[in-house]
This record gives sequence, structure tokens and C-alpha cells, in this order.
Amino acid sequence: MIEVTLLGTGSPIPDARRAGPSTLVRAGGQTFLADCGRGVQQRMTAVGAGANALTALLLTHLHSDHIADLGDVLITRWVTTFDPNPVPLPIIGPPGTAEVVDATFKTFGFDIGYRIAHHADLTTPPPVEVHECTDGIVWDRDGVAIRVAPTDHRPVAPTIGFRIEHAGASVVLAGDTVPCESLDALAAGAGGLVHTVIRKDLVEKMPMQRIRDICDYHSSVEQAAATAARARVGILILTHYVPGIQPGQEDEWRALAASEFDRQIELGDDLHRVEIHPGVCAKPAG
Ligand SMILES: [Zn+2]
Ligand SMILES: [Zn+2]
Repeated sequence: MIEVTLLGTGSPIPDARRAGPSTLVRAGGQTFLADCGRGVQQRMTAVGAGANALTALLLTHLHSDHIADLGDVLITRWVTTFDPNPVPLPIIGPPGTAEVVDATFKTFGFDIGYRIAHHADLTTPPPVEVHECTDGIVWDRDGVAIRVAPTDHRPVAPTIGFRIEHAGASVVLAGDTVPCESLDALAAGAGGLVHTVIRKDLVEKMPMQRIRDICDYHSSVEQAAATAARARVGILILTHYVPGIQPGQEDEWRALAASEFDRQIELGDDLHRVEIHPGVCAKPAG
């Protein structure tokens, strides 16, 4: 079974009830954090996931809302790991990730220096291992495999989606993207598809062109649902709601998705949790 928790269902727009984009995936005793938006560790704490217990950090792209708390995750993991020989944190992201991680360590350079000076048992900066990729198998350890494929969020490029497989269960994390063939291929027959969405019908009516601009590089609810239908996934999990879903509006969002996808649809508030079991996969023919 793969357990998916929507840690943060917000977007770049600050929201009192929603943390920034981030999703926790637990599979086979391994814990993956996909993106690390604002407030991510408060939500991780709520589900008993510490930064020091993360198996790897996955980044779909380098937009600010998806990496806002990268520094917090890296520093917290470092200072709460008490193993004298800490395992470097694998960080898997698109090209540019290493530069962002380096710059983050530079930003926290004074902090890192203070802590090394203060604690005798902290002798080196936070250990990480960055893997930049756009395609292919990036992880195959202890029964969990992860494949990456490019998505389309131009002019933000490159961007990637992840497919995590464990013991016959699978989930795809699409990130921010418009519909594209490589995402269709990555998601084909997956048990679950976690997709970021915006309500184009609402955003298009907003008076500021800068807000309306976001329509051209995101999927609407209906487009994400159509992707799920084409890929014949079992469960569509919506997140990154723009505008944020207000209490009582869930059914309206669900109906939009259901216009294109007739299987299980999940959406909700932060900490919404979905189990994806083996056998939840492509819709049987007929
Ligand atoms: Zn983005
Ligand atoms: Zn985003």
C-alpha cells in the first residue's frame, strides 16, 4: 500500500487554512516529501513525519511556492539527526536543483557556522546528495522504485513528474503542468494521480492580467481529470487549489472533475490522506 498525504493544498496565494504545495508519500517503510511549500514542517509534524526521517526529497520544479521551505527542511533535518555519520539526504529534482540547494546553504551560511561552532558533535554542514534528472528511473531501493518524466509548465522548464511504485501499488505526482503526452505516459495505468489544479473558469474572470496569466501553464480541474481518464488511473487526487476551495465548495470542484473522470476523486483540506492499494489501476475494458 502507498499512503499519500496532502500536506499543503495551497498555492502561491497565502491562505490561513492551507500550507504551500507539498505531498508526503509513504511506501514500504520509506518516506518521500514531494515539494516543500510554506509551512510544510508544521503539517509533517501533524502526521508524525520528521525531517530527520525523510528517505528523500523530490522536487517537481523550482517555483517559489514549491520550494519555499527548502531551507527549513534541510536545516531542521541536520540539527535533529543525531547519528554521528548521517546519511546524506537524496534530493531529486530538475536541472537547476543543485544551484538552488547551494544557494540555500549560502543563505543559511551564518546559521550553519553558528551551529557548528556551538555543538561539538556537529562538525560538517548538512549532508545532501542532489540528483538532477528529467527522465528515467531515479530510485530503486528496498522494493520502492521511482521514475521521472518531463512535464510542461513552460516557461518554467524543465519540470518533472514522479511515479512511485511499491508492491503492486503506484502513484504519480504530476506537479504543475498542462496536459502533455509525457505525463500521460508516466501516469498510464497508475493507481493514483496527484495533480495540481486551478479553476480557469474563476481565474479568467479576475481583473488582474498577472493573475490570469497563470491559466496558460496550469491544468484546470477538467483538464487534470481528462489526463486521469486518458491514463486510466484508479484515483484522481487534486491539490494546489487556485483559488482555495472554500468550505462547502468541495462538491462543485468534484463535479467539474467528474465531468471528465468517472472513478474515485479525492480532494480536501491539508492532511487529507489517501491509501492506494495494489490492484487499484487501469479501468477494466468494457
Ligand atoms: Zn509552478
Ligand atoms: Zn505551483
